[in-house]
Amino acid sequence: MTEMIRHFVAGSSVVGTPERSGPVFDPATGAVTRHVAFASPPEVDAAVAAAAEAAPGWRSTSLARRSSVLFAFRELLNQRKSELAEIITAEHGKVLPDAAGEVQRGLENVEYACGIPNLLKGGFSENASTAVDVHSVRQPVGVVGVISPFNFPAMVPLWFVPNAIACGNTVVLKPSEKDPSAAVFLAELWKQAGLPDGVFNVVHGDKVAVDALLEHPAVRAVSFVGSTPVARYVYETATARGKRVQALGGAKNHMVVLPDADLDLAADAAVSAGFGSAGERCMAVSAVLAVDPVGDALVERISERMAKLDVGDGRRGSDMGPLVTAAHRDRVESYVDAGVREGAELVVDGRGARVDGASGGFWLGPTLFDHVRTDMSVYTDEIFGPVLSVLRVPGYDAAMRVIAENPYGNGTAIFTENGGAARRFCEEVEVGMVGVNVPIPVPVAHYSFGGWKDSLFGDAHAYGPDGIAFYTRSKVVTTRWPDPSHGGVNLGFPQNS
Ligand code: NAD
Repeated sequence: MTEMIRHFVAGSSVVGTPERSGPVFDPATGAVTRHVAFASPPEVDAAVAAAAEAAPGWRSTSLARRSSVLFAFRELLNQRKSELAEIITAEHGKVLPDAAGEVQRGLENVEYACGIPNLLKGGFSENASTAVDVHSVRQPVGVVGVISPFNFPAMVPLWFVPNAIACGNTVVLKPSEKDPSAAVFLAELWKQAGLPDGVFNVVHGDKVAVDALLEHPAVRAVSFVGSTPVARYVYETATARGKRVQALGGAKNHMVVLPDADLDLAADAAVSAGFGSAGERCMAVSAVLAVDPVGDALVERISERMAKLDVGDGRRGSDMGPLVTAAHRDRVESYVDAGVREGAELVVDGRGARVDGASGGFWLGPTLFDHVRTDMSVYTDEIFGPVLSVLRVPGYDAAMRVIAENPYGNGTAIFTENGGAARRFCEEVEVGMVGVNVPIPVPVAHYSFGGWKDSLFGDAHAYGPDGIAFYTRSKVVTTRWPDPSHGGVNLGFPQNS
C-alpha cells in the first residue's frame, strides 16, 4: 500500500476515516505513487468547524500581525519554491521550469496580500452633514471555501488563500484529487509562518467533499476554479444557499493573426501558448484565427517549430510533459480522431510521438489541425490538451464573429503591428483578458483575473482588487457627537445640512 495523503485540519495532519480514496499518479511513468483520502461530510464538517472556531480570533488580529504572517509565508515560499515545483511536476507532469513559473505567479499574489493594511483602508468624510462624520470599513465574511482544479495545484490556491486570510477570513481548501500534495505543502508553510491553527485547512476529495462545503451553513463564500459545467453547478448550488460565489470555468482561447503581423513572433506565441503545460491551461491558445492571406505561411512556421519540441519526463529537460491521467490523455486523443473524421487537415499528428520517458506515461505529442471549421468538435469543445486548431478567416470582422459566437470568453490575443487595429480589438472583443502581441495575458497580481460569458459565474474576478472586495463586506458608519445644546426630539427624516 502506498502512502495516504492526509487532510490538514486545525494545524494538524489528519488521516480521517477514509472509506474512499483515490490514486495519485506520476504521469510521466504511469505509476501510482500515493493515494489520497476522500473526505466524507463529517470530515468536511470538522474542517469547517475548525475554521469557524478560529474565525473570531483571526478577524480581530491586528493588520500589523496579519501582514507579518504573510511576509513570513512569502519568505518561506520563496525559499522552498523549487521543492514545491518538484511536487507539482511529480503529480501533474508539467515540466519543472513551468512548475517553477506557476509557483512564481502564485508568490506574486502573496506579495500583493502582504500590503493588506493599505488594501483595507476605508474612506472617511468629515462633516458629511454638519457635525456628522461618515466612515467606511471592510470586514471579513467568515469561513471561505476554495475549490481548485488539477492544472495549477499551487497557483490557483495562491490566487485566493493569501487574500482571503489577509482580509481576516478563515479558509477550507479542497484541492484537486489528481495532484493534492501541493496544497498540503502550502498548509505546512502557513503553520511555520505563524498562522494560528484552524485559519487554513485542507480537505481532500471529490464531489462529496465539494457538496458538503457548498451546503454547509457556516461557509459564507466560495471561490471555485474548474470546468464550466462544474463551475455553473457550484455557482447555482452555493448562491441558492445564500453564499457569495465566484466560479471560474473553462475556456476556448482565440489568437487572431492579422496580415501585417510578424509571423515568426506569432508562430512562436502560438506554439508556446498552445503546447506549454501540454495545453492544460485555461489560458492556453487553442484556436488560431489566421486572417487571409497569412494561413499557409503561418501554418508552415508553426509546424517547423513543433518539430523541434521535445516531449518527455518533466524532470529531464523536456519542453512538454505528459497529460495528467490516462483517462484525460485518452479523451484528448479521441478529439484527434474526431478531427480527422470530421475533415480537418491533420498537419502534425501527436499520436505515437517520440517520447523521452517511460512507456507507461500518459503521453500525447503536440498536434496541429488546419482548415478547422467552427462546427467541428475540435473547435466547439474545450479539449484541454496539446491540440492546436487553425481556422482560416477572410478578414478582421469574420475573426470577431467567431470569437463573439463562442460561448467562452476567458482570454484572447491579437497579433498585429497596427496599433489602431489592436486598439479596436481591445475595445470590441467580448473576452475578459486580452493580449496585444501577448499570447497568455494573465493579469499581474495587482489587477484581477477573470473571463466573461461561460468562463466565469458571478461578478467578482479572482485576486487583486476584486479578490479583496469579494472576501470582505463593506460597512458604513455615520457618527455624531452632539453638543449638549443640540438636544430635543425631532421625528423628521434625517436630512443633510
Ligand atoms: P474539474 O471541473 O473537473 O474539477 C475542479 C474541481 O471541482 C476539483 O477540485 C474537483 O474535485 C471538483 N469537481 C469535479 N467534478 C465535480 C462535480 N461533479 N461536483 C462537484 N465538484 C466537482 O476541473 P479540472 O479538470 O480539475 O480542471 C480543468 C478545468 O479547469 C478546465 O476546464 C480549465 O479551463 C478550468 N480552469 C479554469 C481556470 C480559469 O481561471 N477560468 C483556471 C484553471 C482551470
